[in-house]
Amino acid sequence: CGIICYIGKQNSIPILMEGLKRLEYRGYDSAGLAAVNSKNKDFVFVKSVGKVNELEKKVKSQDGNCDYGIAHTRWATHGKPTEINAHPHTDCSGKLFIVHNGIIENYEILKSDLIEKGHKFVSDTDTEVLAHLIEENLDGSFEEAVRKALSLVEGTFGIAVIHKDFPRKIIVARRGSPIILGIGEDEYIAASDINAFIRYTNKVIYLNDNEMALLNDKNITITDLNLKEIAKEPETIEWDY
Ligand code: GLU
Repeated sequence: CGIICYIGKQNSIPILMEGLKRLEYRGYDSAGLAAVNSKNKDFVFVKSVGKVNELEKKVKSQDGNCDYGIAHTRWATHGKPTEINAHPHTDCSGKLFIVHNGIIENYEILKSDLIEKGHKFVSDTDTEVLAHLIEENLDGSFEEAVRKALSLVEGTFGIAVIHKDFPRKIIVARRGSPIILGIGEDEYIAASDINAFIRYTNKVIYLNDNEMALLNDKNITITDLNLKEIAKEPETIEWDY
């Protein structure tokens, strides 16, 4: 139901947790996050049923100065609200983490095809199909794998994806589910709702349907779903928060 992600110099975890709290009003049944410390490769991956406070308790016990990460509040559409079904979801390698808002309409056929190819699924969600579909299409380029996977799905998505083999990169994309980019000083935030990050920056770029963005700590590249670059200027939002 809600997405927030951050990449920059600060510890991402407090920013992600605050973002999740600011998304709470949208309603949700579970929450989770995956974040990476790119210096020592430490990793925080936690999920929890219930309130963001429950997640926060677990996150605290794991500590870690993680300079980028993705987080999610889930409103279950496919699969009960359990910890396993909460996002982020991973692939077979356990290196990829994805959060998703929306519904993958053709997930059943994609899932049986992926199972035939040897993929092992652990959740009942439509979202997990995306994780395995990206893994299946991964052949050197993370962006290209995400592009190929998205070309095969029907339905709606706002997604954020990270991969341990492609450090300090977050890929976001949307179709029918909002994603807004927040532009800071050598730091970037993306969320399904400006409210989640307006405290950090009021310079924003709205992603349109069928657009993708690659965030790293130096810049942001926006493309269509064929990886053709799109020039977009940030706009400044006047907002008392
Ligand atoms: N369809 C996905 C699920 O049930 C995402 C739901 C959401 O947008 O929170 O896990």
